[in-house]
Amino acid sequence: MKKVLVLGAGQLARMMDLAGSPLNMDVKAFDVRTNNVVHPITPEHKYGGLAQGIANADVITAEFEHVAHDVLAQCQASGKLLPNSQAIKVGGDRRLEKALLESSNVANAKHIIIENKADFERALTQLELPLIFKSALEGYDGKGQWRLKSAEQAEAIWQEMSAFIDAATSSVPQGIVAEKMVPFDREVSLVGARNIHGEISVYPLTENHHTNGVLSVSVAAPINDALQAQAGQAFKKMAEALDYVGILAIEFFQVGEQLLVNEIAPRVHNSGHWTQQGADTCQFENHLRAISGLPLGSTQLIRPTAMVNILGEDTLPVETLAIPSLSVHWYAKEKRAGRKMGHINISGDTELMLAQRLTQLAQLLDKQAFPDLAEFASKYLAKVS
Ligand code: AMP
Repeated sequence: MKKVLVLGAGQLARMMDLAGSPLNMDVKAFDVRTNNVVHPITPEHKYGGLAQGIANADVITAEFEHVAHDVLAQCQASGKLLPNSQAIKVGGDRRLEKALLESSNVANAKHIIIENKADFERALTQLELPLIFKSALEGYDGKGQWRLKSAEQAEAIWQEMSAFIDAATSSVPQGIVAEKMVPFDREVSLVGARNIHGEISVYPLTENHHTNGVLSVSVAAPINDALQAQAGQAFKKMAEALDYVGILAIEFFQVGEQLLVNEIAPRVHNSGHWTQQGADTCQFENHLRAISGLPLGSTQLIRPTAMVNILGEDTLPVETLAIPSLSVHWYAKEKRAGRKMGHINISGDTELMLAQRLTQLAQLLDKQAFPDLAEFASKYLAKVS
């Protein structure tokens, strides 16, 4: 039995455990809030602290990139951490991420790193407005971001940002990345795996929709080969540059036929949850295979599939389960406004069938809890009809 320790005890560790059981893998999770090693599904079962967790594990991995650096160092020193600590740190710091994109020659939005007022002034003159400013550390789901549309807002935004930097308590200094706003046609992501032997297998590109900065719907369907190849090349360059092992997710802006990287996530990713029902092997299983030295499972799309996030709700109308090829995945979390509580995967033999089922789903769900779903489903239906 392979013993895996996951840094982080949220839904991603939970779904890794669910995918690992059939492979006879034993998955434990390190809860960074309590410093306990717990069972990912029954967290009341505790297995000691970090040192014990490291000693008991064959391999250690992470479900999020904002792991404290001393924890990462301890895991790295054991020789069991995959992906390596540098890859995890790159995913948690936009400055390192941008440096990697530049050194690996991967297209991304024009940007400037801001550490002081002079850098801020330079960003205003060298990058065309509108701009988006993002905190280098701990920014996710659109948090720690400011948008500047006109020069008159500059001073007020600078005041807010500099107060934010000064208030930071992290061991690494906080900073800001200024980016030119990209007039993208859509947002897509690529989830793929690289194993210990350097073998790579990527899933089809997924189209992502956000509501208030948080992912709401992802759709995986047959995709244009040229775009898929472009994303695959970016994946290979970055995964190899990081000597990456595990699942890596890359988010892109699509502008015409070009993909620009927005950000990377050194872990299984929300936009890859559809793989549980839509791909031969789900991302959670492939992550475990990759870090355990096993052959990767096929990443082929078996049928068009969409993932709908359940945010801030802990129940759904039971009739949703009567829709064919629909699965609900709850994370057993306490209900809180806006919190990721679970997701729905829904598939069809064709995109038309998928769009019809999504429309049916949107009609059953509460409009306030799923504000954009009905509109998304109707546009998708019109596109594929
Ligand atoms: P992020 O936290 O970097 O994923 O940003 C959150 C969301 O803000 C993205 O999903 C985009 O919708 C939007 N966004 C971020 N950066 C840019 C950019 N350079 N141009 C246009 N939109 C952006």
